[in-house]
Amino acid sequence: MEPNNEYDVVVVGGGPAGSTSSSVLAMHGHKVLLLEKEKFPRYHIGESLLPFGFFPLQRIGMIEKLKKSHFPRKYAVQFASQDGRVSAPFYFHKHLQHEAAVTWQVLRSEFDQMLLENSREKGVEVREETKATGILRENGRVVGVKAAGKDGVEYEVRAKMTIDASGRDIFTLSKNNGRKWDPALNKMAVWTYFRGAKRDPGVDEGSTTVAMVPERGWFWYIPLPDNVVSVGVVAEKGYLFDGPKELSEIFHGEVEKNLWIKEHLATGEQFGKYHTTREYSYRGEYSAEDGLVLVGDAFAFLDPVFSSGVYLALKSGELAADTVHEALLAGDVSSRRFSPYAERMCREIESMRKLVYVFYHKGFSFGRLIRANPDIRGDLTDCLIGNLDKDFQQLFQAVEEQTAIPEPLPHGRPLLATEIGQVV
Ligand SMILES: Cc1cc2nc3c(=O)[nH]c(=O)nc-3n(C[C@H](O)[C@H](O)[C@H](O)COP(=O)(O)OP(=O)(O)OC[C@H]3O[C@@H](n4cnc5c(N)ncnc54)[C@H](O)[C@@H]3O)c2cc1C
Repeated sequence: MEPNNEYDVVVVGGGPAGSTSSSVLAMHGHKVLLLEKEKFPRYHIGESLLPFGFFPLQRIGMIEKLKKSHFPRKYAVQFASQDGRVSAPFYFHKHLQHEAAVTWQVLRSEFDQMLLENSREKGVEVREETKATGILRENGRVVGVKAAGKDGVEYEVRAKMTIDASGRDIFTLSKNNGRKWDPALNKMAVWTYFRGAKRDPGVDEGSTTVAMVPERGWFWYIPLPDNVVSVGVVAEKGYLFDGPKELSEIFHGEVEKNLWIKEHLATGEQFGKYHTTREYSYRGEYSAEDGLVLVGDAFAFLDPVFSSGVYLALKSGELAADTVHEALLAGDVSSRRFSPYAERMCREIESMRKLVYVFYHKGFSFGRLIRANPDIRGDLTDCLIGNLDKDFQQLFQAVEEQTAIPEPLPHGRPLLATEIGQVV
């Protein structure tokens, strides 16, 4: 065993969840290795941040760097109906009197690279173009991973704790830990980029617009640096892919169905490829095993209509890292230590998930909800800006008077060692 392949913590994946957890752990003084299969900068979707992402970013020293960046400032989100009518922008600073109220629209290639460089500055050893290829287990406990660099030669990395931050790949997916789909949130997305498309003036230049198409489908319109906008359409698979069509045909067919999008794209020039992905929301059956914890999309993925993914990746990365730190200090990395972490993340995800559900529900209207219950506006805004560590009982009681809300998903708690024999 090479001595340089023994660590306190090995983190698999260098997206927002992996770089945040590894930075926090290095700041606690631990010896951390991060493995990333790609060479950064690499393309990634997920460009619109939420105000409450500010706090984990502040913790790892990213705010000043972001303030110096060329990323457009995001002050608000607005909604456009099919006939082009647009709601008054939802300005975050009207609710949150804190600098966090101004957030960013980011080019993920640059944002993720900044986060990874920041981890290096904090003392994390980062190995890019290195893929984790297998889990090492001893006596029922995870003790590290197998990895391979560009030369393809596999070697072992041993660590007291392993963090799976591998995103939707879920590197540790196994018969112990399945991905549990959320049947009602099964969508497809088709997206591309435009240069020179219309931007709203002043502080509205960097706002996200959510623009509706039939069958509760929607467009995102996210202004990026260099006069580029990211534009994508999300809807049921059967609605978008209703025949043998090219992605460009599907995309432009939907553009014709929303006047605001059509008018804003009229001056723009499309470039690059049309991307597609299935956006099936899920949660891991378990969030931890002895010696292992899952963060970010490896733990759970939620439909991106309210741009919650990067916030959840940053927050789960931070919370899991603090729990790992305590576990290492105590010399006990058993999965039960991660119960509070798992409960907190499931609670936060459930609040956002309820809003996502009702967004897709025919006949539900946030406008009507607020008109009937003006006193819940603050709670609704908190939920939408990522202030999710709150009791939202009053909000969801009011929502339930309009529309049924889903039961919480039962998945996501740690797998206890005593259960392993029963679930394998
Ligand atoms: C269509 C769409 C639109 C979205 N829009 C938004 C949005 O506007 N705002 C928002 O906040 N979120 C959005 N999201 C969600 C967002 O993309 C994710 O939630 C976020 O990227 C999760 O971060 P992460 O660090 O968990 O995973 P990722 O960012 O996916 O990072 C995982 C990393 O792990 C690496 N990796 C994977 N397997 C291995 C391995 N075996 N070994 C080594 N490295 C590995 C990958 O290369 C990758 O760099 C969107 C998602 C989709 C699908």
